[in-house]
Amino acid sequence: MNGLMMQQPLLISSLLVHAERHHGEQEVVSRRVEGDIHRSTYRELAARSRRMANALAAQGIAFGDRVATLAWNGYRHMELYYAASGSGAVLHTLNPRLHPDQVVWIADHAEDRILFFDLSFLPLVEAVAARVKTVKAFVLMTDRAHMPAASSVPNLLCYEELIAGASDHFDWPQIDENAASSLCYTSGTTGHPKGALYSHRSTVLHTYAAALPDALNCSARDTILPVVPMFHVNAWGLPYAACMVGAKLVFPGPFLDGKSLHDLFESERVTVSAGVPTVWQALLAHVEANDLRFSTMRRTIIGGSACTPAMMQAFQQRYDVQVLHAWGMTEMSPLGTVCTLKPAHDRLGADARMAVQAKQGRAVFGVDMKIVGEEGEELPHDGKTSGELLVRGPWIIASYFKGDGGDPLVPDAQGRGWFPTGDVSTLDADGYMQITDRSKDVIKSGGEWIGSIDLENIAMAHPAVAMAACIGARHPKWDERPLLVVVKKPGAALTRDELIASYDGKIARWWTPDDVVFVDAIPLGATGKVQKNKLREQFANHKLPTA
Ligand code: AMP
Repeated sequence: MNGLMMQQPLLISSLLVHAERHHGEQEVVSRRVEGDIHRSTYRELAARSRRMANALAAQGIAFGDRVATLAWNGYRHMELYYAASGSGAVLHTLNPRLHPDQVVWIADHAEDRILFFDLSFLPLVEAVAARVKTVKAFVLMTDRAHMPAASSVPNLLCYEELIAGASDHFDWPQIDENAASSLCYTSGTTGHPKGALYSHRSTVLHTYAAALPDALNCSARDTILPVVPMFHVNAWGLPYAACMVGAKLVFPGPFLDGKSLHDLFESERVTVSAGVPTVWQALLAHVEANDLRFSTMRRTIIGGSACTPAMMQAFQQRYDVQVLHAWGMTEMSPLGTVCTLKPAHDRLGADARMAVQAKQGRAVFGVDMKIVGEEGEELPHDGKTSGELLVRGPWIIASYFKGDGGDPLVPDAQGRGWFPTGDVSTLDADGYMQITDRSKDVIKSGGEWIGSIDLENIAMAHPAVAMAACIGARHPKWDERPLLVVVKKPGAALTRDELIASYDGKIARWWTPDDVVFVDAIPLGATGKVQKNKLREQFANHKLPTA
């Protein structure tokens, strides 16, 4: 017997319709590429998205066509989120930090039909326009006054002219909730990038889960500033969650330095932000150097790579900003876990509570997790045993776009597919997951794993260290031993022996790094993560002192 409930598809357009109807006057504020601050509301954003949906149709964009963007966080990008997906096309957020050759490869693989881009990316688009095979039109996301007098980009259109020339009457089509809505490629540290193709259903379900109090905790009373780019897993879903709850949105555009962010937090009275640790490091340095405070900001979501306890302590103890440590990945839309504490944790001492907070957190409803050993056997949830982390859920990919990337799923005894995350973690009895390494980066010494993240956290807590990364270096006896690559803070004095001595008593003795090399910079990928494969290449012939 079936239930007797209405069948209503879960559609991305319904989030915008809701925001307009119930939070029409709520503000959307953007620092524009043009340099000024732009103020609008959900009512205006919804009307302009409908105009853009008509403009896309006028450009011949049909159901399922890919609409590409090269854009910062801003209201025009948000309009495209809704205009493209809402009208049945697929929004493809290209990552502008990639090499032009990679942008061309990805745009060709996605078969993008039209490319929207911010003024900052005109040189990039000029470099790739003649090479992308399927793009028929290029749209500069600005007004007539900011259009270039001349450009080598063919069929160059002006965003504001498209909007002005289109009607704001558009009925969002009631499409199948399983239709593709948006496409995001993984950073691809190895091999070609792979596409995660989200659906309307997966996106709306992810939005419900992300907004919950023990997840990202979004409310109509919040002012949310996503620092995480809208070209990196849809800014962790915040442009959708903000519409669902009616929160004020503030977009920083390309201005992501500590001063610009802090100014915007203060002037727009931001309460919640989200981004990767690298960004927060710069912000904390600015705030510390200028003896500033956060007068309204109370929470920040930190993920994408591990947040160190030192950073958490700085935010929480010095600035009264609660850190929500979150973990996920492109293939998971991206949210998997958030580290919010349970009531029992209130009884713990400060150190024990920090130890829980340093974990990546517990699964949000909808995500199933398990850890397995080398033979695929399930490992205990004891907070100590680590193994490869596998996940399942309605917003986790079943396969990559066009099947390129092989069949990623691993079947269990019931024949259900699990997605292997490539992360190595523990799970404790309370369900808290802690990443100890990535399987690609793992350091295996004498057949035993060494968690490079722990070693990096200890180095990062040293006052003379600006950045540290740990890789496995070749060792004749142990196969691999940890090598620490370190960037010192400007003017700081630190020797190899002093840093190695700082590990005493903090970890098992055999985990202590065998050597330290000081460098000027550590290579970072397009999304701000340390490129350990590059480091491994760089130090492939490094002679460890004991070797
Ligand atoms: P991406 O698909 O680029 O978002 O990268 C996902 C990967 O980033 C994950 O598989 C993890 O290896 C890593 N990652 C994401 N969040 C965290 C976190 N909070 N701590 C450690 N690693 C993380």
